[in-house]
Amino acid sequence: MSKFQPMTFFNRIPVDRPAQYDILPFRFTALDDSRYVATNLAGEYALIEREPLQRLVSGQMRAEDPHYADLRARHFLTDAHSRMAPDLLAIKVRTRHEQLANWTGLHIFVLTLRCEHACPYCQVSRQSEDKATFDMSREHAEKAIGLVLQSPNPAVKIEFQGGESFLNFEMMKYVVLRAKAANQNLPQPKGLTFIAATNLAVIDDEMLNFCAEHDIGISTSLDGPRELHNKNRPRPGGDSYERTIAGISKVRQRLGRRSVSALMTTTEASLPLVHEIIDEYLEQEFSGIFLRPLSPYGFALKTKFYRAYNAERWLQFYDEALDYIIELNRQGIEFREYYAATILTKMLTCRDPGYVDLMSPAGIGLGAVVYNYDGAVYASDEARMLAEMKDTKFKLGTVDDSFQTLFTNETFLEALDESFAYSAPMCNDCAFEPWCGSDPIFHWGQQQDMVGRKPESEFCQRNMHIYRGLIRRMEADSFVRRLFTRWANIC
Ligand code: SF4
Repeated sequence: MSKFQPMTFFNRIPVDRPAQYDILPFRFTALDDSRYVATNLAGEYALIEREPLQRLVSGQMRAEDPHYADLRARHFLTDAHSRMAPDLLAIKVRTRHEQLANWTGLHIFVLTLRCEHACPYCQVSRQSEDKATFDMSREHAEKAIGLVLQSPNPAVKIEFQGGESFLNFEMMKYVVLRAKAANQNLPQPKGLTFIAATNLAVIDDEMLNFCAEHDIGISTSLDGPRELHNKNRPRPGGDSYERTIAGISKVRQRLGRRSVSALMTTTEASLPLVHEIIDEYLEQEFSGIFLRPLSPYGFALKTKFYRAYNAERWLQFYDEALDYIIELNRQGIEFREYYAATILTKMLTCRDPGYVDLMSPAGIGLGAVVYNYDGAVYASDEARMLAEMKDTKFKLGTVDDSFQTLFTNETFLEALDESFAYSAPMCNDCAFEPWCGSDPIFHWGQQQDMVGRKPESEFCQRNMHIYRGLIRRMEADSFVRRLFTRWANIC
C-alpha cells in the first residue's frame, strides 16, 4: 500500500486465509508518517499504525493482538463472538441519516435586501430606501408560509434574513402571526420557532417586545473588537460596534441571556487578531465562537475581499484560535469553537447535527430553503447569493409553484444525486467522508462543477486539515480528548 493513499476495504477475507474474522467496510487515510485514521460506515474511527493495519487487512490479526478487541468493538471486524455486528452497524448508519426523512427544517425568509450597513464582504444587501423593489410582499410571504407548513419535518424554524431584517419589521410581524395561526389550523401542528438575523443597529423597544412575546431568537454579527468590527462593517456614524454591543445587552435584558448568538466573518484584517477576537467574545459573555472564512459570493468577490487570503492562511488563523481556546479551557474558562464541536459530534457520537455544509447528500433544499424578497425560491442562502451574481442555477422556482414542483426541480435532484460524497471521486476513498459534506454550490461557484475537483477544492483542503488537526490534538492530550468529548455531546 502506498504511504499516503486513502484506501477502502469492503471485501471479506478470502477463505484460504487463516483469518478468524470478517472485515466490515472501512476506509483509511494516513494521519502522519506512521499512523492511519480508519473509519467505518457509521463514522466511528480508530487510529492504527501501519503494521497492525497490514495484519488486519491481510487477515493475519490474531485475537490476542492488542488492537483486536477494540477493532471488533468499533465494528471494523466481526467474528464468532460478534455476529450481531453488521446489524448494529446498520442501525448506527440509519440513526446517522435519520434526519433525511424529516427534510427541510430551516426556512429562510429574506424580508428585504435593504441595509444601512455597507460591509465590503456582504453578499447581497442594498443601501436603498426603495421598499417597493427590495422588500418582500404580503402575497409572497403568504404563499411562502403555505410552503413552509407542507414540509414533512414535524419541527420547522423560520429565520428572518436581509439585508437588515428589522428594516421590514411590518413583514416580520405579519409572517409570525400568520404562520402561527396557519400552523394551529393544521391537523397536527408543527413545532414552530423563529429567529431573526440582524446587525441590531435599528432594533427598538417595540421590536424587542414583539420578539419577547413570540419567543423570537436573535442572531447577530460580531467580528471582533471595536476597531476591527467597525472597519469590517461600516455604517453612517461609524458606530456599528457600539450599536451591536448595546443591542446584545438590550436583547439579553428583555429576552433572556441565551436568546442571542453571534457570528463572525474572517477578513484579512482579522487574521493577526486571533486572541483579540476570542477575548471580545469572552468579554461579551458568549460561550463560544463559530470561526468562518469569507464566502466566495457577491460583493466579497467583486471587491476582491474573497481573494485577500487563501485557505492555507485561514487554516493558520483557525489553528491558532483553536489552540488558544483549548488553553482557555485548561485554565478553567469554558469556551467552545462551534465548527469543531459540529465535526466532533459526527466523529464521537451517532448523531448528525445537520449542519448544511457538512451533509451528504448535500444540505441544500433538504437542510434549508430560502424564500427570497422577490418571491424566488432557492435551495440555500448561498444559492440566492449566487443568483445575485446572475447565476440562477440553484433557483428551485417561485412561491407560486407547488411544493411538489419545487422539490422535484431537476437541478435540485441532480445536485442531491451528485453530492452524495460516498460515491464522489476522491471522497469515496477518503476516511473522512462519514464526517464530510459536499457543498455543491461552493464547488459550482468555484469550479462550475457540482461535484468539485477535490484536489483543487478549498472546501476539501480546509476540512481535511481540520479533521486531521482535531484527531491529532485528541490523541496527543487526554485533557483535549475529554474537552472534545464534552463539546461533541453538547452540540
Ligand atoms: S471533500 Fe475532501 S475531506 Fe471531504 S470526503 Fe471528500 S476528499 Fe475527504
